[in-house]
Amino acid sequence: MQPFYSMPTTRDMETIARPLLTLVCPVCGATFPSAMQMDPRTFEGIQVTNLFERCPKCSRVSRFNKPDYLFRAPGETEINLRSGRARRTAAPKVN
Ligand SMILES: [Zn+2]
Repeated sequence: MQPFYSMPTTRDMETIARPLLTLVCPVCGATFPSAMQMDPRTFEGIQVTNLFERCPKCSRVSRFNKPDYLFRAPGETEINLRSGRARRTAAPKVN
């Protein structure tokens, strides 16, 4: 059984149901949404190797692999959709 931490509102359910695939720019450290957006289940089933994405902040194009992609719910720091996967890299936290 999954514990409910609080009564979910309609807005909460919306944000949980639609997480954003995000990346951390290795150049400037900005977190930005990936150009490809999909649901976590689809993402789990695809191959992501050496994809190029452009950071909207510094305009540098960087190469990303699957562990670089993180699902984040808007308004939440992070949601635990990758719990079944080993964490190979920890994204640097930039304030
Ligand atoms: Zn950048």
